[in-house]
Amino acid sequence: MFKDIFKKSKKKKYVTVKHMKDNDVPEGIMVKCPKCEKIMYTKELQENLNVCFHCDHHMALNAYDRIDALMDKSSFVELDAQVETVNPLNFPNYEEKVEKDKAKTDLNEAVVTGSGTINGYKTGIAVMDSRFRMGSMGTVVGEKITRAIEHATRNNMPFIIFTASGGARMQEGILSLMQMAKVSVALNRHSEAGLLYIAYMTHPTTGGVSASFASVGDINLAEPESLIGFAGRRIIEQTINEKLPDDFQTAEFLLEHGQLDKVVHRNEMKEVLTTILKLHNRGEA
Ligand SMILES: [Zn+2]
Repeated sequence: MFKDIFKKSKKKKYVTVKHMKDNDVPEGIMVKCPKCEKIMYTKELQENLNVCFHCDHHMALNAYDRIDALMDKSSFVELDAQVETVNPLNFPNYEEKVEKDKAKTDLNEAVVTGSGTINGYKTGIAVMDSRFRMGSMGTVVGEKITRAIEHATRNNMPFIIFTASGGARMQEGILSLMQMAKVSVALNRHSEAGLLYIAYMTHPTTGGVSASFASVGDINLAEPESLIGFAGRRIIEQTINEKLPDDFQTAEFLLEHGQLDKVVHRNEMKEVLTTILKLHNRGEA
């Protein structure tokens, strides 16, 4: 009887990396890089902020992990964590989809906002998370970002937004498009108060988010190889009836064409932001 138990567990446990196929990667323990297809330990990859050791591919980093990696320990104070998403257009199955993403991600929406310090420099921050409804911008995402910017304006703090978005949230129709203007107005008031705004684009930053607050930073940064653009490649190719270059809509392409200030490797994220905050510090920190 015991012999059978051992036999069974042995078969499941001893999977060697060398012989693993796609669906053999033990979930949670090891991860396969989608670019170079090499297999790594999840824990080691997480310690490297989800950047592949072999090819430097930047995999998605969830909002709280990014905040942990960037902000000084225990300095982050979250704002509006409990703002609830509603279904203003009664879009079929929308509530179920939101509930499913809540359970999957432990987030209440596709953005986490608040303030804290980075190497001692105070800043307001919003970090979008593409796991939640593709990081799409609905009324709650727009409202949370707006409130966080207003909080930063009141408290004389710079503001950083990490974008990761599929665009406006289709289930909220025109109400999601309104968020583009709302967030931009809040950013304008923040700017009129003489405060610094850093837009930090991560993969992917598309649609209404790329067309509003993601592209209007005093300083615009992006992660390597991020897809950044308004409409998709196919739509543009069909419209202009021309083939687009392979690197079109990548962070590197935008940098080359003057639409970005710097492409920043994730391992340098904290250092680069610290330098910028230090340069613009008005003595409050
Ligand atoms: Zn790789």
